[in-house]
Amino acid sequence: MKNDLYSENIRLTEQLHSFLAQARQNEEKMSRFKEQELRLIGTHSLPELIRMVVYGYRATFELDVVSLALLDSRNELRGILANEGQNLEQIPELKLLSKDGALDPIYGASLRPVLNAYSPFSHGLLFQGLPQVPSSVALLPLVRNGELIGSMNLGSARLSRYEKGMDTDFLEHLAAVVSICTENAINHERLKRMGLTDPLTRVNNRRFFDQRLYEEVSDALRHQQPLSCIFLDIDKFKRVNDELGHQSGDLVLQDVAMLINSQLRTSDIIARYGGEEFVVLLPDTTVESAMEIAERIRARIEEHVFVLPEGKRMHITISSGLSMLVTDTADPNVRELANELVDHADQALLMAKEGGRNRAVSA
Ligand code: GH3
Ligand code: MG
Ligand code: MG
Repeated sequence: MKNDLYSENIRLTEQLHSFLAQARQNEEKMSRFKEQELRLIGTHSLPELIRMVVYGYRATFELDVVSLALLDSRNELRGILANEGQNLEQIPELKLLSKDGALDPIYGASLRPVLNAYSPFSHGLLFQGLPQVPSSVALLPLVRNGELIGSMNLGSARLSRYEKGMDTDFLEHLAAVVSICTENAINHERLKRMGLTDPLTRVNNRRFFDQRLYEEVSDALRHQQPLSCIFLDIDKFKRVNDELGHQSGDLVLQDVAMLINSQLRTSDIIARYGGEEFVVLLPDTTVESAMEIAERIRARIEEHVFVLPEGKRMHITISSGLSMLVTDTADPNVRELANELVDHADQALLMAKEGGRNRAVSA
């Protein structure tokens, strides 16, 4: 009897220890999760949020793969990330979906988490191009104001990790937090973009250009790559305003920005420098190649028929000045070189004007 009680006591003590260890482990997990959540709530940067969601939660939940899909039918997020210098190819876990209803086959109207064995046919879109193919998945709809904005996708190599019918309270909480934080980060990025965008032409403004100029000059120096700059100024623009009105002038400015943009690569940086002046930075481009681009822009604007209110039509021309960064300086000063790059392009522009306009001149 005594012996029985003794062994029963030992058994219970062992059980208690095991429960305590389990509880401690859960507590640690919970505290790591809470920490992660606080960091997520604190971030205003979209690239940082994406990294936290796909890499942070993968580690916290000991998952094999996590991806994040965001609906981006207007390519707004793509633009935001490109402007932040993000190379999307380096984050295959991020899926920007340009088709509005791309996630409808997964969630239907219910907008509830989907737990299931992985199916390449149904879930391939969310996991393609990733180093590991999961065996089971938990797909969490990200919803704001009743609308689907994306999907957070957890994948495990264990088939039993996520099965239909499992309790989803915790995952629903996670989805709600990630949804709010994603929307929050996007809104912050929008606000930031607004302060750096010219409201009339929707291209970058002078403030953005001044910031990026130094970054591009330092990158070019570091990688010993050419960097070219084109300054563009509409010819006799005052006349457009005087003869056709300020509103027509504004329309012409919008079209010119669009026409310049149409000749650039996504890595080129365009900004409205002031009034009817635009500036373009061309990374990894020699002044000879920049000249070809400036000439293309010049020809494109010359041939374009600007359609104005009341059906009026007109042609305009543009002059440009080009310069290239000097990278063979022994002790380069980024600010000095950047200012010099811009000054030289500006001087070349003056020469283009003096030379008769509707032309590109290299410094
Ligand atoms: P040039 O060939 O020498 O460049 O002649 P220009 O007439 O283009 O040059 P000038 O600098 O004398 O005039 C620029 C004009 O651009 C004056 C201003 O009315 C107009 N402008 C500047 N910003 C805006 C704008 O936001 N909207 C409109 N409609 N016009 C603008
Ligand atoms: Mg001007
Ligand atoms: Mg002008």
